[in-house]
Amino acid sequence: MILPKESQRRACCRILAPRLASAPISRATRNRTGSHSAQVARNSGSGTRYKHDRPLKAVHIGVKLRDEAPEFAGRALDALREPLEEGYITLGRAQGVVVYPAKVQLALTANPCSCQRPAGDAGCGCSAQVKRRYLRRISGPLLDRIDIQVNLEPVSPISLMTPGKSESSEAVASRVARARATATARWADLGLRCNAEVPGALLREPRWRLPPHDMADLTAHLDQGVISARGYDRVLRLAWTVADLLGRDRPHKEEVNIALGLRLRDTD
Ligand SMILES: [Zn+2]
Repeated sequence: MILPKESQRRACCRILAPRLASAPISRATRNRTGSHSAQVARNSGSGTRYKHDRPLKAVHIGVKLRDEAPEFAGRALDALREPLEEGYITLGRAQGVVVYPAKVQLALTANPCSCQRPAGDAGCGCSAQVKRRYLRRISGPLLDRIDIQVNLEPVSPISLMTPGKSESSEAVASRVARARATATARWADLGLRCNAEVPGALLREPRWRLPPHDMADLTAHLDQGVISARGYDRVLRLAWTVADLLGRDRPHKEEVNIALGLRLRDTD
């Protein structure tokens, strides 16, 4: 689904709660966050003062899109790890440090290489080594926090001239709304709104733990070091979302493997 431009802009520039700007500054936070804060500040587009100038803008309960992500400085990209993991950003300034909520849905796009030929691989003379080096500008730790990683093929002239029937945005939105309502109802007693907010530890408790048979492939990937413990939990959360979208009572082996496959991008 493609968001209207205005929606993207609004989501990317959600004004953060002004009351937080006057919250006491934590010295412990300053010490803990280090250089991340300055990079996040640049990413969020905030000014040099945090206290009384225009409201700081960032994304909270919204979508943050980084188009052509490898073109950004690695440290600036890695600064996005904090909001992805913690749900807040820390802005450091000469006057101190302030923490803002930033639960974001991050979308990164990347061309396969820096030459960015419209025809994709067909028009590209870059070596495999050059391509690998280009995509490695998105660090492993950041990728570890990206739940869905997919390769997209260039649009062919034939498909442009003969567009196939695709599902309407309304139909997709309706399905997502139903899935979201299912998740919200399931976690309501725990004060959680969606699968993304569920702590991994909770999903591993007996009440929510999936049978070993359904988890076999995911567990094997963890054992083999293909995915991290963080990735394991993220696949579980995504599996619940897949199950909600398919109208199933819980993730079974199929849904877990769909979630796992969405995470494991083909890198050949
Ligand atoms: Zn190329």
